[in-house]
Amino acid sequence: MKTTFKGNKQSLPSKPCTVCGRDKTWRKAWAKNWDQVLYCSEACRKNKSNSTQVAKHG
Ligand SMILES: [Zn+2]
Repeated sequence: MKTTFKGNKQSLPSKPCTVCGRDKTWRKAWAKNWDQVLYCSEACRKNKSNSTQVAKHG
């Protein structure tokens, strides 16, 4: 069994997405800004407020 993460996965922190409420598990990419990570995905991040702002593609 291979694993790229050292340590137990059970010790990984997790918190619910502020938009959809799903638990999102800690990712290595979020190590630096875990406290600022509020959304589980880019879709939820855009979905937080799509009423007043008009987003452009790209
Ligand atoms: Zn979400």
